[in-house]
Amino acid sequence: MSGNTLQDNRVALKANYEALINSLDDLIWSVSNDLRLITANTAFIEGIKALTGITVKPGDNLLMRDIFQEDYLLFWEDAYHKALKGDSFKKEIYTPAKSVRPKSWVETSFNPIYEDGKIIAIACYLRDITEKKFKEELLIKSEARLAEAQAVAKVGSWETDLSNYNVIWSAETYRIFEVDPGQFKSSHPGFLEFVHPDDRAQVDKAFKDSLESAFDNSIEHRIILQSGNIKSVEERWRIIRDDQKNPVRAIGTCQDITERKNAEEKIKMSADALLNTLNDLNKIMDSSLDVICVVDVNGYFKKVSAACEVVFGYKAEELIGKLIFDFVYPEDRDKTMHSAERVMIGDNTPNFTNRYVRKDGSLVHIEWSARWDAEDKMRYGIARDVTYRKLAETQLTELHESIRRQSVKLLESNEELERFAYVASHDLQEPLRMVTSFLQLLQKKYDGQLDDTAQKYINFAVDGADRMKILILDLLEFSRISSLAVNHTVIDLTGVIKKTLVTLKSVIDESQAKINVSFLPKVCGNESQLLQLFQNLISNAIKYRDDLAPEIEITYSETQGEWQFCIQDNGIGIDAKYYDKIFIIFQRLHNKKDYTGTGIGLAICKKIAELHGGRIWVESSKGNGSKFYFTISKLQTPAAGGAEMLCPALAENAINQLP
Ligand code: ADP
Repeated sequence: MSGNTLQDNRVALKANYEALINSLDDLIWSVSNDLRLITANTAFIEGIKALTGITVKPGDNLLMRDIFQEDYLLFWEDAYHKALKGDSFKKEIYTPAKSVRPKSWVETSFNPIYEDGKIIAIACYLRDITEKKFKEELLIKSEARLAEAQAVAKVGSWETDLSNYNVIWSAETYRIFEVDPGQFKSSHPGFLEFVHPDDRAQVDKAFKDSLESAFDNSIEHRIILQSGNIKSVEERWRIIRDDQKNPVRAIGTCQDITERKNAEEKIKMSADALLNTLNDLNKIMDSSLDVICVVDVNGYFKKVSAACEVVFGYKAEELIGKLIFDFVYPEDRDKTMHSAERVMIGDNTPNFTNRYVRKDGSLVHIEWSARWDAEDKMRYGIARDVTYRKLAETQLTELHESIRRQSVKLLESNEELERFAYVASHDLQEPLRMVTSFLQLLQKKYDGQLDDTAQKYINFAVDGADRMKILILDLLEFSRISSLAVNHTVIDLTGVIKKTLVTLKSVIDESQAKINVSFLPKVCGNESQLLQLFQNLISNAIKYRDDLAPEIEITYSETQGEWQFCIQDNGIGIDAKYYDKIFIIFQRLHNKKDYTGTGIGLAICKKIAELHGGRIWVESSKGNGSKFYFTISKLQTPAAGGAEMLCPALAENAINQLP
């Protein structure tokens, strides 16, 4: 090769070299060891010019002290000197944003140039790495965002290298497992240690199975934390394969679903509880003897309890979806319709009764209690079979009616009897008087002429006529007491007793009777009858005594509906077997020699007590005195019927006392 050609080659090489470096946007330059420019590409020359306004050329000192600021100069001086000492290095220079110029980064590399083992210059290279920096920044930001998103969603990520089963977790995965990076073995077996023992085999199998699968995989399982707490997580992963379809990596996410699981558990528990309650309710419904049913707004059975089979003769499934109205007995449909309308406006009329036609065609009486629920537009009803009660009511009404008819008849026949007794006793007096007068005439006229036997017979006849007269008078008195309660007013019984004692004064004095009377109440009654009642009982109490002077106690007690009086004596007493007999007219226990009387007194007392809505009875035993009780009702109505009270003021007090 000739020298000329070498020279030419060098020139050509240099031209090539210059063309090459000048084609670059990056700045390339070299600096001598006294920090002067040796060579530079166009990008450098233009860059310096843009920065300083000066076009630098080889030999120029690059540390232009009059142009650059001190810290800038220091940076370059340092870097050049460092390179001159033999260091090859790179430096990043950051220029913050200034007015219109955005922030920027450049990377400068410094490399010493050797000749004969000595550093003779520095080769420098500067390129703009702003874009790269921005991308890095962006990546950092997006990674931060991803981490944040993972934290918010409680979703961590992981990656398993399938060649060695090493595992990498994201920060959020560590957070979910509540461990620090140092506490995790970073391997698949290490991960399995956290999995709940009951779930471990299943999780491992799912992972192993997924190696063969081309699809995405997922599994929910529990993990046990170091604290002992249990969390639920959902893992989703995908197997990454190489070109030969061999699995190389598994990438996945791990989401903390503990809250969701707990909520699901709670929902399940409340659903179970609800189901149990519903079951209980159904059982209660079906064990009810009454029919419990739900009917919709249009009147269709929605639900019916089992009792319907007994009550209506239909099974629940035969009724559900049917119109309730179709089962109502036609005659009762109108009133049923009205009642249903009332229920639906909130008038939960209890005890509405109607009739239904059972499956076998018989009628069943139903008593309803129903409620309308405006929100779910349903009628809730309880239907009770009251057929027997209704029949009993009908029978009772009929019974009442027949009793009423009978008592009217009885009243009529009683009145007739009374009239008869009155007429008989009244009309008998006249002939009796005649018999008595003629007997007396006979006695007078034939005095001394008749033999003893005739005289005895006449005496018997006179005696009999006298007794008959007394009996007739008694009968008359008895028949005069009307069978109806008449002239009932408020009577002060203390006054009645006083009058009685005045009437009986001579008998009382004669027998030296002691009579103790407590304060007596005001009652509703007929004064003369009550006088007679007390008089008969007190005079009996005095009369039926033996040697003891009579001691009589008159007391009373009160219940809600009546007053009860007691006349107690210390007389001869009565054998229990005669308790009823003594109240029958003309029934006596003694002959008139021992105790005078006709046996009418207690019969009159009985009649008077009954006319005052009460009754009379005796408690006694022979030789131990007697207690005669009688009652007077506080709620007396006229015997002929009618709801009004005979003594309204007293009746009102009595009603107020009722519970
Ligand atoms: P009478 O006194 O005219 O016989 P009552 O009707 O008053 O008629 O009495 C019926 C019978 O009841 C009496 O004959 C008497 O045997 C009995 N009796 C009535 N009161 C008493 C009494 N306080 N103690 C014992 N016996 C009595």
